[in-house]
Amino acid sequence: MIRMKLYDQVIEKILAVLGAREGLRLPVGETHWPEVSDRSMILRSDMAYELGGEGLPAIGCTVITADERLVPEDGITLLGRDLPRIQEDVPYGRIALVQVDGEALGEGQALYQAVRALEYTRYHFYPKGFMLRISAARHRESVRVGKEALAEGLDFTITGNRMISAFHKNASVKAVHIYYVTLEEKAPRQSARGGSGQAGVLAPGFDYKALAECAGEAEDITRTIDHIMTGGIMDCVSCGLQRVCDEVEGLRELHFQK
Ligand code: SF4
Repeated sequence: MIRMKLYDQVIEKILAVLGAREGLRLPVGETHWPEVSDRSMILRSDMAYELGGEGLPAIGCTVITADERLVPEDGITLLGRDLPRIQEDVPYGRIALVQVDGEALGEGQALYQAVRALEYTRYHFYPKGFMLRISAARHRESVRVGKEALAEGLDFTITGNRMISAFHKNASVKAVHIYYVTLEEKAPRQSARGGSGQAGVLAPGFDYKALAECAGEAEDITRTIDHIMTGGIMDCVSCGLQRVCDEVEGLRELHFQK
């Protein structure tokens, strides 16, 4: 099953970016928390803070695989502070690694639609007090967190379990692991005089740039699948997706087999 291995290299990279650090495993199971409608807004005046607020990293990414070794079971891992311990806007990353039954996803355009449908799960997920703000054009996924919901106990255990449940509504999904990151951003070290440090020297912190690059690679693969499945040109020399096909094992095979 070549096609469902297409994202495996990116998943390995994501796990490498995340895995160098100790994450906190949060409990998986049923949670009782109100849902709101998709039109519910959290106004700035009702907001405690924004995960991935303006000017901060705000990464949201869903990547699928058929390999159960990469996503063996449902799980939630937190790198950084949980919602009740945050008081101000912080950098934010949300990665969902989803193990699917590759056979159930289908072929051709159905495969592309199935991949997009899994990504769009984030649009069908409305826990009270946790309002996603997505800019597809800017590749940003930030979240407004409501003051009232925080006072009532909202945390990542609730949001993570709600998102896992939303994914499991899709019959092809076998397991989901959600990673939340709220660590400080890796930034150039400042010198004692306040100027920029030596080039290439980085202070401790999380490498959101590397995570955003992985998310970009996953999106490039999905766009390439769309090109292949919608009968795009088959001339690699003039094709704009050559770089993606050079890097991702199986894409060329998928196109020419088709
Ligand atoms: S196989 Fe060649 S033509 Fe097809 S998407 Fe990749 S680079 Fe483009």
